[in-house]
Amino acid sequence: MPLFRLLVATALVLLIALPTSALAGTRRAKSPVTLASSIAARYWGAMPCQGKIKILTRRRVPVQLEHDSDGWVTFDSSLGANDLASPAGTYRRCTIALGRSRWPTTASMRQDWDMLCMTMIHEFGHLLGRSHDATTGSVMAAVFTDYTSEPRLCRTHRPKRPRR
Ligand SMILES: [Zn+2]
Repeated sequence: MPLFRLLVATALVLLIALPTSALAGTRRAKSPVTLASSIAARYWGAMPCQGKIKILTRRRVPVQLEHDSDGWVTFDSSLGANDLASPAGTYRRCTIALGRSRWPTTASMRQDWDMLCMTMIHEFGHLLGRSHDATTGSVMAAVFTDYTSEPRLCRTHRPKRPRR
């Protein structure tokens, strides 16, 4: 049925074309997550995992982590799952997860921007092979108790309010 096939092909093209033109046509404010990840790449001057990172928001903290974790990463590596001892160039299937209790909504991410930005930079650090660092002010500190570790880039690049 040639006609049917043509309709299917048209539908597919539309599906692909619509989201792209929707993005190009409007001047939407970048989402806090998108902004934070581009700041993180800029901070480190590198993009982990060949640029293939899945960012998952509103996640429940896995049982094996501290229950009050706000962000965490998962990846496969040459030494197995989530092993920072393996060369970062071998990391695949990378994800960064953000906890739902700290950031349940996009609005909460905008409001709590400084911590979101620090956390994103921290998680990018892990995906680039960095372990935790107890040095005061390090963005690789295991826990952030205040904003002394906040890189300047986070303060100078706050997310804009969405335009309505
Ligand atoms: Zn960490």
